[in-house]
Amino acid sequence: MKQTKLLISACLLGQPVRYDGQSKPMPETKWAALQQAFELIPVCPECLGGLPTPRPPAEISGGSGCQVLKRQARVKTAAGEDISLAFISGAEQTLAIAQQHGCHAALLKANSPSCGNRQIYNGNFEKTLRSGQGVTAALLEENGVRVWNEEEWQELLAQNVRN
Ligand code: SF4
Repeated sequence: MKQTKLLISACLLGQPVRYDGQSKPMPETKWAALQQAFELIPVCPECLGGLPTPRPPAEISGGSGCQVLKRQARVKTAAGEDISLAFISGAEQTLAIAQQHGCHAALLKANSPSCGNRQIYNGNFEKTLRSGQGVTAALLEENGVRVWNEEEWQELLAQNVRN
């Protein structure tokens, strides 16, 4: 039987693509269960956008991912460098990959300025979360790709069984 394809943040699969050069791997039991249910398509939007690894941490200032896409908010480093265009490019390339593979769901890293689906940091580099989506999560959801985070993996599996 042809497996459903799932877009997944590369750092959750152990790829060292985070801003600090590290990964955030899910426990093997979790991703093994996902791998049984889905064909996994790993992506790192920030790498796709041309940013190096390691890179300075970044947060969304003045809004959420959907406002960045409309050029109404900015993604900035702590030093104030505006790197919004790289984030938008990464989001657009991630959407193109999702569409090429026919992905209708994505499991993305929580709280990231690219991948976060429910919360992001407040833009002041204070380690304080607020409601909002990252740039890629926002673009995917605007285009019909439902985004889950790694804490929601069991809900995602249950949803896949129901469909
Ligand atoms: Fe992980 Fe997404 Fe950040 Fe890439 S952009 S390191 S996939 S959270």
